[in-house]
Amino acid sequence: MTQVFNFSSGPAMLPKAVLEQVQAELLDWQGLGTSVMEISHRSKEFIAVAETAEQDLRDLLAIPAHYKVLFCQGGARAQFAAIPANLLGSAKHADYIDGGYWAHSAINEAQKFCTPNVIDIKTTENGKVALLPMNQWQLNDNAAYVHYCPNETIDGTAIDEEPDFGDRVVVADLSSTILSRPLDINRYGVIYAGAQKNIGPAGLTLVIVREDLLGKTLQQFPSVLDFKTLADNDSMFNTPPTFAWYLSGLVFKWLKAQGGIAAMAKHNQAKADLLYSTIDNSDFYRNTVLERNRSKMNVPFQLTDDKLDKLFLDESVAAGLHALKGHRVVGGMRASIYNAMPLEGVQALTNFMQDFAKRHG
Ligand code: PMP
Repeated sequence: MTQVFNFSSGPAMLPKAVLEQVQAELLDWQGLGTSVMEISHRSKEFIAVAETAEQDLRDLLAIPAHYKVLFCQGGARAQFAAIPANLLGSAKHADYIDGGYWAHSAINEAQKFCTPNVIDIKTTENGKVALLPMNQWQLNDNAAYVHYCPNETIDGTAIDEEPDFGDRVVVADLSSTILSRPLDINRYGVIYAGAQKNIGPAGLTLVIVREDLLGKTLQQFPSVLDFKTLADNDSMFNTPPTFAWYLSGLVFKWLKAQGGIAAMAKHNQAKADLLYSTIDNSDFYRNTVLERNRSKMNVPFQLTDDKLDKLFLDESVAAGLHALKGHRVVGGMRASIYNAMPLEGVQALTNFMQDFAKRHG
């Protein structure tokens, strides 16, 4: 079988070593004669899995003790509702930075709960797609919090600056960038991320919330998404997605074995540099995002002649390079290169791109 590299934006590829471990212990997990999927979430064996996963995540991201880590369900989209429902209290407004597709989707959902102050940071610089730097964001004093999305999975844009907004409560949707580079958790009130990109399988959503923000949830909001209820019940108020939790725990162990988040950041930078330089050094491909705002996780690119798109996709699949079709709202191609993508995968992609350009340019 040709070696396959999967560039899907999510659900995305997982580390091979992790999948091999899952396979090896699937039918007889820890000598119990059953799989981890089939035991109670309240068993001592599963509680150990849950606690170890949380501790490993805390170690990886250096999460301070006054933050709770919640293992939720509903995906990041459930958090688009949970954030206002948990944080507004009596406030009527929150600041929402609009930098792309997912930030905009969060605004649409927030409108059910409040009147968001929408701050559009999309701009162009030197003819390139750009986002205003944080010191130009016009925040409002009536806002309960400021929400933004540091990595736009579809637009392929990113804000790598860390927020520095004093006492304001900063909320970040890190679905497509969590664990890819170091973060100063203290700068955030809430961080959330769907698992299916850089954490584990779909079905799990991580929330990291500062303790003093708990306890303000709107009364009629579902308890399963009430941060305080989840925190008081160690994320087991209802049955958690146990298999996704277990597998994410294996990914955390794998990340530690790779040298942790600082090592991942270096690895991710090297992959992104290789891919962007291949695009920039060619007249055949282009990426329209200003360098400062280029995502290191999701790299959209277009062929100058879009009539060749279909051939590019057919040939790339035949070469073992999967899921390169761009999102329907932007078209073209997109390579998602999360932590689990090895450098060899990006090398295989850039070799293919150069060869394709030579043959069709
Ligand atoms: N935010 C971002 C940045 C995303 O990339 C996605 C999914 N691609 C979502 C939110 C929505 O996540 P989910 O499908 O888990 O609700």
